[in-house]
Amino acid sequence: MEQRGVTVWFTGLSGAGKTTIRMAVEQELRDRGLKVEVLDGDIVRQYLTKGLGFSKEDRDENIRRIGFVAHLLSRNGVVVLVSAISPYRATRDEVRQRTGDFVEVYVNAPLAICEQRDVKGLYKRARAGEIKQFTGIDDPYEAPLNADVECKTDEESLAESTVKVLTHLERLGYVPIAEAIASI
Ligand code: ADP
Repeated sequence: MEQRGVTVWFTGLSGAGKTTIRMAVEQELRDRGLKVEVLDGDIVRQYLTKGLGFSKEDRDENIRRIGFVAHLLSRNGVVVLVSAISPYRATRDEVRQRTGDFVEVYVNAPLAICEQRDVKGLYKRARAGEIKQFTGIDDPYEAPLNADVECKTDEESLAESTVKVLTHLERLGYVPIAEAIASI
């Protein structure tokens, strides 16, 4: 059977767990033999959207470009996993409208938890004023109102979050149903 493409869009604060869940989902999909591609916000900003900053306009442009590429891939049968803070609801919704096959995953952890994790040391720097316009500190994050999947990473394990995403994709027919989830 021909694989149906889809864009799976992980949104949430820095440190919420987007990359971690994305990697676990990616591994599982690859294990099932699916065509998968990844657009990671941090990496995209070094190439596709190099030079863009963190004003609202630049963040929106960043997201639109990621959305454009994700659409090209997903309409050709690829499962595209996007992890990007993508703080603006309207811009995410715009990308969803353009893309069609689109699953929004809200990776939700309270700011205090993200800050405590401080995976990349960025919150510390933002609090010290070394980084401006940092989402959650001095820049907004507009949480999804109706995400397809919500992963509350302060309450659930990585395995639980990953299964939530995979189960949703199975239910919608984007990925074949597995007997058991092997990689987590
Ligand atoms: P982001 O990509 O959203 O900036 P990361 O994935 O880089 O976030 O970091 C999230 C951190 O939270 C990691 O250190 C990860 O181990 C931890 N974590 C704890 N519980 C979970 C969970 N249920 N899902 C994802 N990450 C979790």
